[in-house]
Amino acid sequence: NPIVAIVGRPNVGKSTIFNRIVGDRISIVEDTPGVTRDRIYAHSEWIGHEFSVIDTGGIDISDEPFVNQIQDQAEIAIDEADVIVFLVSVKEGITDADEKVARILYKAKKPVILAVNKVDNAELRQEIYDFYSLGFGDPYPISGSHGLGLGDLLDAIVKEFPQNETDEEDQSIRFSLIGRPNVGKSSLVNAILGEDRVIVSDIAGTTRDAIDTKFTTEDGTDFTMVDTAGMRKKGKVYENTERYSVMRAMKAIDNSNVVLVVLNAEEGIREQDKRIAGYAHEAGRGIIIVVNKWDTLKKDNHTLNEFEAGIREQFAYLSYAPIIFVSAVTKQRLSQLPELIARVDQNHRRRVQSSTLNDVLMDAIAINPTPSDNGKRLRVYYGTQVSTEPPTFVIFVNDPDMMHFSYERFLENRIREAFDFSGTPIHLIKRHR
Ligand code: GDP
Repeated sequence: NPIVAIVGRPNVGKSTIFNRIVGDRISIVEDTPGVTRDRIYAHSEWIGHEFSVIDTGGIDISDEPFVNQIQDQAEIAIDEADVIVFLVSVKEGITDADEKVARILYKAKKPVILAVNKVDNAELRQEIYDFYSLGFGDPYPISGSHGLGLGDLLDAIVKEFPQNETDEEDQSIRFSLIGRPNVGKSSLVNAILGEDRVIVSDIAGTTRDAIDTKFTTEDGTDFTMVDTAGMRKKGKVYENTERYSVMRAMKAIDNSNVVLVVLNAEEGIREQDKRIAGYAHEAGRGIIIVVNKWDTLKKDNHTLNEFEAGIREQFAYLSYAPIIFVSAVTKQRLSQLPELIARVDQNHRRRVQSSTLNDVLMDAIAINPTPSDNGKRLRVYYGTQVSTEPPTFVIFVNDPDMMHFSYERFLENRIREAFDFSGTPIHLIKRHR
């Protein structure tokens, strides 16, 4: 998806506009423990175009002085976005801080759209002409608080989206590594690519996938590692802020079939790990939990099992994700990764026949009868797979409310026993018939 970033000095109304653009389309999928809703990155859609929006104002680089923050936020927008919305306010006119943002944005080789906020009435419209002097062409008058002018602004944004150059031929498995700073993502990327693999191309020049790396394993499987350049050029101040790493993770998740959630064995599991993993789970991608720096632990016969038990407890909602213990330094088990990624990808795309699925469901019901309530029994008539990535099943029943969580979990487990769905979430949708 194209990415739209909203930039501007504090108090121009970035988060109001962000919320207007995103509306209540922010997908709130069930409760994932540990995930607080970070409203700085969200999906939206306008006349058939899907895109993601970043509110750079929410990326708070807390220890930095005000001026640097503005600069960092603008640079994040330049690095991450396909289209930049430069927000100013008609109330205050052009301020020094606006000019500072403008100077940074001149360097952007990306489209910049100038939006003038707080144009709450027709009179104020007369005042937007001053903003031509910023040098970004026609200013778009909008009002975040009244919801005015957003349609025209969105039309202008959508027009600037890169043409879809998606390569129909590309059958490669797209995967990414996500995790907190310093868990070893870059080291793993280098170690994986270093393992005598043919790097087909380091595509440069195309706007969208400029940072993907393709490689082919000995058995002929094609992979695309998403987002690696961003990890290679490190050292910006904002790299180590939590919100920035969350935003990067969400972007990488969006572009992947399979996501490797990287943990650091040395430091154990942190809150931020749970949040990042929660996003991958909600997005419905294939997931592998990669415990890196396994070389740093003094191990006995129990170390691995104990670590695994800790993960299962802390990431209960990821019970389907395989765990692999690796070291980017000693390369322990790294050679197993491509095969594991390929298997998870296959499961994520798996389609099962309705007849087999229904045999499984009927067997399950025979073993563990459906619940009943006040003399009424839940009836499961029929199930069918409606989509893949992730595999999604519709189950037709007499009364969807009677399918309690525990029974649904039981059916899911039976489905997982019958087919290999390891590494992928599966969704069950209950429908009345
Ligand atoms: P990133 O921020 O997640 O990309 O993390 P880096 O790849 O930059 O690694 C952070 C630090 O951990 C660096 O000093 C690495 O040398 C070190 N490191 C990475 N992987 C391993 C590992 O498997 N074992 C050990 N001992 N150190 C590692």
